[in-house]
Amino acid sequence: MAAKTSSFVTEIPLITTSKDLAILAARLEAGRQLYNAVLSEGKNRLQLVRNSELYQQARLIDKNDKKGKSSAFQKAREAYRFSDYDLQAFANKTAIASIWIKSHLDAQTIQKIATRAFKALERMAFGKAKKVRLKQKGQFASLEGKTNKQGIRWTGNSIEWSKLKLPGIIINDPVLLHGLSSKIKYVRLVRRILNQKTYWYAQLVCEGKPYQKLKNLIGDGNVGIDLGVSTVAIVGDKKTIWTPFAVELTSKQKKIRKLQRKMDRQRRANNPNNFNPNGTIRKGSKLWNNSNRYKKIVAKKREIERKQAAHRKSSHGKLVNQTLKLGKHIKTEKVSVKAWQKNWGKSIGFKSPSNFHFRLKRKAENAGGTVLMFSTRYTALSQTCLCGNKQKKSLSQRVHHCSICGLKMQRDILSAYLSRYVDPKTETLSIQLARNGWLGMEESLLDGWQHGSNQPARTTTSSKSPISNNGLEWVSSNLITREESEPARVNETRVVS
Ligand SMILES: [Zn+2]
Repeated sequence: MAAKTSSFVTEIPLITTSKDLAILAARLEAGRQLYNAVLSEGKNRLQLVRNSELYQQARLIDKNDKKGKSSAFQKAREAYRFSDYDLQAFANKTAIASIWIKSHLDAQTIQKIATRAFKALERMAFGKAKKVRLKQKGQFASLEGKTNKQGIRWTGNSIEWSKLKLPGIIINDPVLLHGLSSKIKYVRLVRRILNQKTYWYAQLVCEGKPYQKLKNLIGDGNVGIDLGVSTVAIVGDKKTIWTPFAVELTSKQKKIRKLQRKMDRQRRANNPNNFNPNGTIRKGSKLWNNSNRYKKIVAKKREIERKQAAHRKSSHGKLVNQTLKLGKHIKTEKVSVKAWQKNWGKSIGFKSPSNFHFRLKRKAENAGGTVLMFSTRYTALSQTCLCGNKQKKSLSQRVHHCSICGLKMQRDILSAYLSRYVDPKTETLSIQLARNGWLGMEESLLDGWQHGSNQPARTTTSSKSPISNNGLEWVSSNLITREESEPARVNETRVVS
């Protein structure tokens, strides 16, 4: 058997006349009947194997003797000709005997049908499927070849298959062109019925890796990230991105909180006996009486949560791709949701920073990158200046302005920059290396700051007066407003970044 190489599928819609459709329908039907014939025969043979003395003996062999056990099973299968090869021979004989099938299908397509039936039987034999089913009309919707040399073939820009020629619809799309320029292993024809109309597609099974969209290319550089509640700073070798973090989710979160409060009020009104006079829930067993109105609110809330989750997924995904474009060697502080909640209130978890980190890590590592998530304990990047000066900042102080050396930089961008120089072994900052790198990168850091400042505010959740520093209003306006019911627990000094 040939060694397995990686492959991908390129799908191309085909142009078909009504005559083509009739021919294809007849060939598909021939294929279906042949498949069912092979499946039935294979099923019988498998039953004979299972009833056989050889099979029963094989079952008794100790499972630690893997080689012996597997060769004993193999003998039982051979005795009753239960193999891919034997079923291919059976398919061939059946096709020839029926004449009609043979006149519609070529040898390779016939062999592939047999293999397909054998694989279904194997799944059952190994307990991966409960049973195999004969295909009804409509359930059998594809045929495929074995190579691109005989039988179903893709040549030029068309399918060719015993007197049929079906042109493909070729558009100027990089994904499609990449497939067409790759080596084709074999071709599959697939029928689909949409709005009662029949369409046929060619699936080219190509050798190699699928086309990677240019915008998702993964870079080889180093990246430092500072992930904050409202913004994320991403510092690559040559480019800095400073952008709101999952800010689109905030308006949905407000709706969810509103519904939650509504539910709470309803519940209290419907079940006065379950609460103590001070408003806490009574201990012991209780019956809850939930009104229809209450249930409606629950359903509504669930729907918004579902949408929020989908939105979060796409928002995180975008940010992951943006990051990896800059580089796959990533350094960032471990995110502590608890620390976030301490400063910003419980509800902040809806942004799922840890999930973002998890996806970033998985994708970077899959691409051969390295990911360091260091503890904030020894680094305290948000308090550190390039000159070595350490100064605590309040949370509202968004710009680092050193009183010793005069360095001025947006604080998240500075933290992200410094992250790049955290030693993986000791998890401490190498200030000397950070100083050395500064000159070459200052421009891109300032660019990122400038560019981020010019982004329009996308939510209007806050009525707090914006902090006026270099047009950074959107930062404060994107901060989550605390719910009135929650006590303000803002720590003035942020010890961890
Ligand atoms: Zn300084």
